[in-house]
Amino acid sequence: MQKAVFLDRDGVINDNKMPVNKPEDFIFFPWTFEAIKMLNNAGYPVFVVTNQGGIEMGHLTHEDLKNIHDQMLADFHRQNIFICDIAYCPHFQSKCECRKPAPGMLFKLAKKHHIDLKASYMVGDREVDMDAGRRAGCKTIKIGKPCKNADYTAKNLLDAAKIIISAS
Ligand SMILES: [Mg+2]
Ligand SMILES: [Zn+2]
Repeated sequence: MQKAVFLDRDGVINDNKMPVNKPEDFIFFPWTFEAIKMLNNAGYPVFVVTNQGGIEMGHLTHEDLKNIHDQMLADFHRQNIFICDIAYCPHFQSKCECRKPAPGMLFKLAKKHHIDLKASYMVGDREVDMDAGRRAGCKTIKIGKPCKNADYTAKNLLDAAKIIISAS
């Protein structure tokens, strides 16, 4: 079984001051490429787990989200950066097991890709990310303001990647 890093998307990989409903709304943070490249080089498969309740709310469609993610993956690929898989929750009000703080997306990806969740990390900028990571058994890294549910606090994804690599 393989250790891995699960990343929240908005506020971790890309700036989310504005809603991201189409590919042109997606703005990478300047440190994202270096951070994920470091994790790739250290042998961590990297996954994205993102709440996209805007789908249920009608702000974007599954196809819009696919276009956003296709563009994101193409931009990563051009830099020789590899994202293993992406899971998203399209729900907002509906009962589901995938919307963070529920851990469903992490369980699904772990099963599909044979990931050892206890040896893995969840990185996010909100408490719901920390709760989902913790409930899945992962170590948790909070970006931005500290929160008591997190094992570590980092100022951004690059800082988080350095924490993961120095702890391993
Ligand atoms: Mg976020
Ligand atoms: Zn869901």
